[in-house]
Amino acid sequence: MTKAWSVLPDEWKPILKERGLRPFRADQILQSLYRDYIGSWDEATTLPKEFRETLKTEFPLTKADILETSRSEDGTTKLLVGFEDGNSVETVLIPATGRFTQCISTQVGCAMGCAFCASGSRGVRRSLTADEIVAQYLLARKFGEITNIVVMGMGEPFANYDETIRALKLINAGKGPNLGARHITISTCGVVPGFAKLAAEGIQFELSVSLHAPNNTLRSELMPVNKRWPIDKLLEACAEYTRKTKRIITFEYTVIKGVNDSRSHAEELAKQVKRVPMAKVNLIPLSPVSHRPDFQTPGEETLLMFLDVLMKNRIQTMLRRSRGKDANAACGQLRLRHMEEAGN
Ligand code: SAH
Repeated sequence: MTKAWSVLPDEWKPILKERGLRPFRADQILQSLYRDYIGSWDEATTLPKEFRETLKTEFPLTKADILETSRSEDGTTKLLVGFEDGNSVETVLIPATGRFTQCISTQVGCAMGCAFCASGSRGVRRSLTADEIVAQYLLARKFGEITNIVVMGMGEPFANYDETIRALKLINAGKGPNLGARHITISTCGVVPGFAKLAAEGIQFELSVSLHAPNNTLRSELMPVNKRWPIDKLLEACAEYTRKTKRIITFEYTVIKGVNDSRSHAEELAKQVKRVPMAKVNLIPLSPVSHRPDFQTPGEETLLMFLDVLMKNRIQTMLRRSRGKDANAACGQLRLRHMEEAGN
Protein backbone atom coordinates (compact mmCIF):
# COMPACT_ATOMS: atom_id res chain seq x y z
CA MET A 1 0.00 0.00 0.00
CA THR A 2 1.30 3.43 -1.00
CA LYS A 3 -0.42 6.68 -0.13
CA ALA A 4 -1.57 8.36 -3.35
CA TRP A 5 -0.46 11.83 -2.21
CA SER A 6 3.09 10.65 -1.71
CA VAL A 7 3.57 9.46 -5.30
CA LEU A 8 5.35 11.96 -7.57
CA PRO A 9 3.64 12.34 -10.97
CA ASP A 10 6.49 10.64 -12.85
CA GLU A 11 6.41 7.67 -10.50
CA TRP A 12 2.84 6.58 -11.25
CA LYS A 13 3.48 4.71 -14.51
CA PRO A 14 6.30 2.47 -13.22
CA ILE A 15 4.49 1.87 -9.93
CA LEU A 16 1.28 0.81 -11.66
CA LYS A 17 3.22 -1.41 -14.03
CA GLU A 18 5.08 -3.06 -11.17
CA ARG A 19 1.77 -4.03 -9.64
CA GLY A 20 0.34 -5.41 -12.82
CA LEU A 21 -1.98 -2.41 -13.14
CA ARG A 22 -2.36 -0.63 -16.46
CA PRO A 23 0.15 2.22 -16.67
CA PHE A 24 -1.90 4.28 -19.14
CA ARG A 25 -4.20 5.11 -16.24
CA ALA A 26 -1.51 7.36 -14.74
CA ASP A 27 -2.71 10.52 -16.49
CA GLN A 28 -6.30 9.93 -15.43
CA ILE A 29 -5.16 9.43 -11.86
CA LEU A 30 -3.18 12.67 -11.94
CA GLN A 31 -6.14 14.56 -13.36
CA SER A 32 -8.40 13.25 -10.64
CA LEU A 33 -5.92 14.06 -7.90
CA TYR A 34 -4.62 17.44 -9.01
CA ARG A 35 -7.09 18.88 -11.47
CA ASP A 36 -10.35 17.71 -9.96
CA TYR A 37 -8.89 17.63 -6.45
CA ILE A 38 -10.95 14.61 -5.43
CA GLY A 39 -11.52 14.03 -1.73
CA SER A 40 -12.10 10.31 -2.20
CA TRP A 41 -11.53 7.83 -5.05
CA ASP A 42 -15.33 7.53 -5.36
CA GLU A 43 -15.31 11.03 -6.85
CA ALA A 44 -12.98 9.94 -9.66
CA THR A 45 -15.89 9.05 -11.88
CA THR A 46 -13.82 9.13 -15.08
CA LEU A 47 -12.18 5.92 -13.88
CA PRO A 48 -13.91 2.53 -14.12
CA LYS A 49 -15.52 1.48 -10.86
CA GLU A 50 -13.43 -1.63 -10.49
CA PHE A 51 -10.22 0.36 -10.87
CA ARG A 52 -11.42 2.85 -8.28
CA GLU A 53 -11.81 -0.03 -5.83
CA THR A 54 -8.24 -1.16 -6.58
CA LEU A 55 -6.97 2.38 -6.04
CA LYS A 56 -8.80 2.56 -2.69
CA THR A 57 -6.88 -0.39 -1.32
CA GLU A 58 -3.56 0.03 -3.15
CA PHE A 59 -3.24 3.84 -3.16
CA PRO A 60 -5.51 5.24 -0.45
CA LEU A 61 -5.95 8.98 0.00
CA THR A 62 -4.56 10.12 3.34
CA LYS A 63 -7.15 10.57 6.03
CA ALA A 64 -6.82 14.13 7.26
CA ASP A 65 -9.56 16.33 8.68
CA ILE A 66 -9.86 19.94 9.71
CA LEU A 67 -10.54 19.68 13.46
CA GLU A 68 -10.76 23.38 14.14
CA THR A 69 -10.80 26.60 12.14
CA SER A 70 -10.05 29.97 13.66
CA ARG A 71 -10.16 33.15 11.73
CA SER A 72 -8.53 36.31 12.93
CA GLU A 73 -9.69 39.84 12.20
CA ASP A 74 -6.88 40.43 9.73
CA GLY A 75 -8.16 37.54 7.59
CA THR A 76 -5.58 35.01 8.70
CA THR A 77 -7.15 31.58 9.07
CA LYS A 78 -5.63 28.87 11.14
CA LEU A 79 -6.54 25.23 10.63
CA LEU A 80 -5.89 22.41 13.01
CA VAL A 81 -5.43 19.30 10.85
CA GLY A 82 -5.92 15.90 12.47
CA PHE A 83 -4.51 12.62 11.15
CA GLU A 84 -5.63 9.03 11.52
CA ASP A 85 -3.45 8.27 14.54
CA GLY A 86 -4.95 11.15 16.53
CA ASN A 87 -2.03 13.52 16.05
CA SER A 88 -2.64 17.01 14.76
CA VAL A 89 -0.69 19.91 13.26
CA GLU A 90 -1.41 23.51 12.42
CA THR A 91 -1.47 25.17 9.06
CA VAL A 92 -2.10 28.88 8.61
CA LEU A 93 -3.57 30.70 5.61
CA ILE A 94 -2.43 34.27 5.21
CA PRO A 95 -4.10 36.51 2.63
CA ALA A 96 -2.30 39.58 1.31
CA THR A 97 -2.67 41.71 -1.80
CA GLY A 98 -2.19 39.40 -4.77
CA ARG A 99 -1.12 36.53 -2.56
CA PHE A 100 -2.57 33.73 -0.54
CA THR A 101 0.22 32.18 1.50
CA GLN A 102 0.02 28.91 3.40
CA CYS A 103 2.31 28.14 6.31
CA ILE A 104 2.70 24.35 6.60
CA SER A 105 4.00 21.97 9.26
CA THR A 106 6.49 19.15 8.78
CA GLN A 107 6.42 17.49 12.21
CA VAL A 108 4.03 16.97 15.12
CA GLY A 109 5.75 19.23 17.62
CA CYS A 110 9.47 19.91 17.25
CA ALA A 111 12.65 18.55 18.79
CA MET A 112 14.76 21.67 18.37
CA GLY A 113 13.62 23.34 21.58
CA CYS A 114 14.09 27.01 20.65
CA ALA A 115 13.34 28.99 23.81
CA PHE A 116 10.81 31.40 22.27
CA CYS A 117 8.88 28.85 20.20
CA ALA A 118 5.58 27.26 21.23
CA SER A 119 5.98 24.25 18.91
CA GLY A 120 9.18 23.19 20.58
CA SER A 121 7.95 23.56 24.14
CA ARG A 122 6.58 19.99 24.26
CA GLY A 123 9.14 18.16 22.15
CA VAL A 124 8.43 16.17 19.01
CA ARG A 125 5.86 13.38 18.73
CA ARG A 126 6.71 12.25 15.23
CA SER A 127 7.60 13.47 11.75
CA LEU A 128 4.93 13.85 9.11
CA THR A 129 4.99 11.73 5.99
CA ALA A 130 5.07 13.40 2.57
CA ASP A 131 1.38 12.67 1.98
CA GLU A 132 0.44 14.29 5.30
CA ILE A 133 2.34 17.42 4.30
CA VAL A 134 0.60 17.40 0.91
CA ALA A 135 -2.74 16.83 2.68
CA GLN A 136 -2.38 20.17 4.49
CA TYR A 137 -2.01 21.90 1.14
CA LEU A 138 -4.94 20.06 -0.43
CA LEU A 139 -7.23 20.82 2.52
CA ALA A 140 -6.25 24.49 2.38
CA ARG A 141 -7.14 24.81 -1.31
CA LYS A 142 -10.81 24.81 -0.31
CA PHE A 143 -10.24 28.26 1.17
CA GLY A 144 -8.83 29.68 -2.07
CA GLU A 145 -6.00 29.19 -4.51
CA ILE A 146 -2.71 29.03 -2.65
CA THR A 147 -0.06 31.19 -4.36
CA ASN A 148 2.82 30.69 -1.89
CA ILE A 149 3.92 28.15 0.67
CA VAL A 150 6.20 28.82 3.61
CA VAL A 151 7.50 25.82 5.53
CA MET A 152 7.37 27.73 8.79
CA GLY A 153 4.77 25.78 10.70
CA MET A 154 5.51 23.20 13.34
CA GLY A 155 8.69 21.17 13.04
CA GLU A 156 12.15 21.42 11.54
CA PRO A 157 12.03 20.61 7.81
CA PHE A 158 15.70 19.56 7.66
CA ALA A 159 15.08 17.10 10.52
CA ASN A 160 12.47 15.48 8.25
CA TYR A 161 14.32 16.18 5.02
CA ASP A 162 13.22 13.36 2.70
CA GLU A 163 9.49 13.51 3.37
CA THR A 164 9.43 17.32 3.31
CA ILE A 165 11.28 17.58 0.01
CA ARG A 166 9.16 14.83 -1.53
CA ALA A 167 6.00 16.73 -0.55
CA LEU A 168 7.34 20.01 -1.93
CA LYS A 169 8.46 18.36 -5.17
CA LEU A 170 4.97 16.93 -5.55
CA ILE A 171 3.28 20.30 -4.94
CA ASN A 172 5.75 21.85 -7.40
CA ALA A 173 5.31 19.17 -10.11
CA GLY A 174 3.95 20.32 -13.46
CA LYS A 175 1.55 17.39 -13.62
CA GLY A 176 0.70 17.90 -9.97
CA PRO A 177 -0.52 21.11 -8.36
CA ASN A 178 2.21 23.00 -10.25
CA LEU A 179 3.03 25.61 -7.63
CA GLY A 180 6.25 27.39 -8.68
CA ALA A 181 9.40 26.48 -6.74
CA ARG A 182 10.18 30.17 -6.22
CA HIS A 183 6.86 30.46 -4.43
CA ILE A 184 7.89 27.82 -1.89
CA THR A 185 10.10 28.86 1.05
CA ILE A 186 11.79 26.37 3.33
CA SER A 187 12.81 27.67 6.74
CA THR A 188 15.43 25.93 8.88
CA CYS A 189 16.82 26.62 12.32
CA GLY A 190 20.25 25.66 10.95
CA VAL A 191 20.50 21.89 10.57
CA VAL A 192 23.69 22.16 8.54
CA PRO A 193 23.65 18.88 6.55
CA GLY A 194 20.40 20.01 4.92
CA PHE A 195 22.05 22.87 3.03
CA ALA A 196 24.27 20.76 0.76
CA LYS A 197 21.43 18.29 0.20
CA LEU A 198 19.04 21.05 -0.84
CA ALA A 199 21.65 22.65 -3.12
CA ALA A 200 22.12 19.28 -4.82
CA GLU A 201 18.40 18.97 -5.58
CA GLY A 202 18.74 21.68 -8.21
CA ILE A 203 15.24 23.01 -7.49
CA GLN A 204 14.73 26.71 -6.99
CA PHE A 205 13.00 26.62 -3.64
CA GLU A 206 13.61 29.68 -1.48
CA LEU A 207 15.61 29.17 1.70
CA SER A 208 15.25 31.00 5.01
CA VAL A 209 17.51 30.50 7.99
CA SER A 210 16.37 31.30 11.53
CA LEU A 211 19.33 33.11 13.06
CA HIS A 212 17.84 35.15 15.92
CA ALA A 213 21.19 35.92 17.58
CA PRO A 214 24.46 37.31 16.27
CA ASN A 215 26.88 35.36 18.51
CA ASN A 216 27.26 31.83 19.82
CA THR A 217 26.71 32.61 23.49
CA LEU A 218 23.30 34.12 22.93
CA ARG A 219 22.31 31.83 20.07
CA SER A 220 23.07 28.70 22.08
CA GLU A 221 20.89 30.05 24.89
CA LEU A 222 17.97 30.69 22.57
CA MET A 223 18.49 27.82 20.12
CA PRO A 224 20.03 24.56 21.37
CA VAL A 225 20.75 23.56 17.74
CA ASN A 226 23.58 26.12 17.86
CA LYS A 227 25.57 23.85 20.17
CA ARG A 228 25.63 21.21 17.46
CA TRP A 229 26.14 23.60 14.53
CA PRO A 230 27.53 26.93 15.78
CA ILE A 231 27.36 30.17 13.79
CA ASP A 232 30.65 29.67 11.90
CA LYS A 233 29.57 26.27 10.62
CA LEU A 234 26.11 27.57 9.80
CA LEU A 235 27.31 30.63 7.89
CA GLU A 236 29.87 28.54 6.01
CA ALA A 237 27.05 26.23 4.89
CA CYS A 238 24.97 29.27 3.90
CA ALA A 239 27.81 30.80 1.89
CA GLU A 240 28.43 27.49 0.15
CA TYR A 241 24.73 27.19 -0.62
CA THR A 242 24.59 30.63 -2.25
CA ARG A 243 27.75 29.91 -4.26
CA LYS A 244 26.36 26.63 -5.56
CA THR A 245 22.81 27.74 -6.26
CA LYS A 246 23.29 31.47 -6.93
CA ARG A 247 20.26 31.94 -4.76
CA ILE A 248 19.68 34.38 -1.95
CA ILE A 249 19.34 33.24 1.65
CA THR A 250 16.99 35.11 3.96
CA PHE A 251 17.97 35.30 7.61
CA GLU A 252 15.06 35.44 10.00
CA TYR A 253 15.70 37.45 13.14
CA THR A 254 12.98 37.37 15.80
CA VAL A 255 13.49 40.46 17.91
CA ILE A 256 12.99 39.85 21.64
CA LYS A 257 12.82 42.79 24.04
CA GLY A 258 15.96 43.17 26.12
CA VAL A 259 17.39 39.88 24.81
CA ASN A 260 18.74 40.36 21.27
CA ASP A 261 17.56 43.88 20.40
CA SER A 262 20.41 46.25 21.26
CA ARG A 263 22.34 48.47 18.87
CA SER A 264 25.42 46.32 19.37
CA HIS A 265 23.42 43.17 18.54
CA ALA A 266 22.38 44.84 15.30
CA GLU A 267 25.98 45.82 14.47
CA GLU A 268 27.17 42.31 15.24
CA LEU A 269 24.37 40.83 13.12
CA ALA A 270 25.34 43.01 10.17
CA LYS A 271 28.91 41.72 10.36
CA GLN A 272 27.78 38.10 10.43
CA VAL A 273 25.33 38.47 7.57
CA LYS A 274 28.02 40.08 5.40
CA ARG A 275 29.91 36.79 5.50
CA VAL A 276 27.27 35.31 3.21
CA PRO A 277 27.51 36.71 -0.33
CA MET A 278 23.80 36.78 -1.15
CA ALA A 279 21.80 37.39 1.97
CA LYS A 280 18.98 39.49 3.30
CA VAL A 281 17.34 39.85 6.68
CA ASN A 282 13.74 39.67 7.87
CA LEU A 283 13.14 41.23 11.26
CA ILE A 284 10.14 39.74 13.07
CA PRO A 285 8.89 41.13 16.37
CA LEU A 286 8.42 38.25 18.80
CA SER A 287 4.93 36.78 19.17
CA PRO A 288 4.50 36.29 22.90
CA VAL A 289 4.22 32.63 23.95
CA SER A 290 2.53 31.42 27.13
CA HIS A 291 5.43 29.28 28.36
CA ARG A 292 7.87 32.21 28.38
CA PRO A 293 6.12 35.28 29.81
CA ASP A 294 9.57 36.87 30.28
CA PHE A 295 9.98 37.13 26.49
CA GLN A 296 8.26 40.23 25.20
CA THR A 297 7.71 42.06 21.96
CA PRO A 298 10.04 45.04 21.53
CA GLY A 299 8.66 48.54 21.04
CA GLU A 300 8.41 50.24 17.68
CA GLU A 301 11.40 52.48 18.35
CA THR A 302 13.68 49.52 19.02
CA LEU A 303 12.56 47.79 15.83
CA LEU A 304 13.19 50.92 13.77
CA MET A 305 16.62 51.44 15.37
CA PHE A 306 17.53 47.82 14.59
CA LEU A 307 16.32 48.19 11.02
CA ASP A 308 18.25 51.42 10.63
CA VAL A 309 21.56 49.89 11.77
CA LEU A 310 21.21 47.03 9.28
CA MET A 311 20.24 49.36 6.43
CA LYS A 312 23.19 51.66 7.19
CA ASN A 313 25.35 48.55 6.87
CA ARG A 314 23.79 48.07 3.45
CA ILE A 315 22.00 44.89 4.38
CA GLN A 316 18.72 44.39 2.58
CA THR A 317 16.24 44.22 5.45
CA MET A 318 12.48 43.88 5.84
CA LEU A 319 10.50 44.54 8.98
CA ARG A 320 7.75 41.90 9.13
CA ARG A 321 4.53 42.21 11.03
CA SER A 322 3.14 39.27 12.89
CA ARG A 323 -0.30 38.25 11.65
CA GLY A 324 -3.19 36.33 13.12
CA LYS A 325 -2.57 37.04 16.78
CA ASP A 326 -6.23 36.87 17.78
CA ALA A 327 -6.61 33.47 16.06
CA ASN A 328 -3.79 31.95 18.08
CA ALA A 329 -2.20 31.84 14.66
CA ALA A 330 1.23 32.93 15.72
CA CYS A 331 3.68 30.10 16.00
CA GLY A 332 2.34 26.82 17.30
CA GLN A 333 -0.19 28.25 19.65
CA LEU A 334 -3.41 26.68 18.43
CA ARG A 335 -2.18 23.12 18.90
CA LEU A 336 -0.73 24.05 22.26
CA ARG A 337 -4.06 25.45 23.41
CA HIS A 338 -5.81 22.35 22.06
CA MET A 339 -3.45 20.13 24.04
CA GLU A 340 -3.86 22.18 27.19
CA GLU A 341 -7.65 21.98 26.90
CA ALA A 342 -7.49 18.23 26.31
CA GLY A 343 -5.27 17.93 29.36
CA ASN A 344 -2.24 16.50 27.60
N1 SAH B 1 12.03 24.97 12.29
C1 SAH B 1 12.02 25.94 11.23
C2 SAH B 1 10.63 26.35 10.76
C3 SAH B 1 9.56 26.56 11.78
S1 SAH B 1 9.62 28.03 12.74
C4 SAH B 1 12.83 27.15 11.65
O1 SAH B 1 13.25 27.23 12.78
O2 SAH B 1 13.06 28.02 10.81
C5 SAH B 1 9.31 29.35 11.63
C6 SAH B 1 9.86 30.67 12.13
O3 SAH B 1 9.09 31.18 13.23
C7 SAH B 1 11.30 30.56 12.62
O4 SAH B 1 12.05 31.63 12.13
C8 SAH B 1 11.10 30.63 14.11
O5 SAH B 1 12.27 30.99 14.78
C9 SAH B 1 9.98 31.64 14.23
N2 SAH B 1 9.34 31.70 15.53
C10 SAH B 1 9.10 30.69 16.39
N3 SAH B 1 8.51 31.14 17.51
C11 SAH B 1 8.35 32.47 17.35
C12 SAH B 1 7.77 33.50 18.16
N4 SAH B 1 7.26 33.24 19.34
N5 SAH B 1 7.76 34.75 17.66
C13 SAH B 1 8.28 35.02 16.44
N6 SAH B 1 8.82 34.10 15.63
C14 SAH B 1 8.87 32.83 16.09
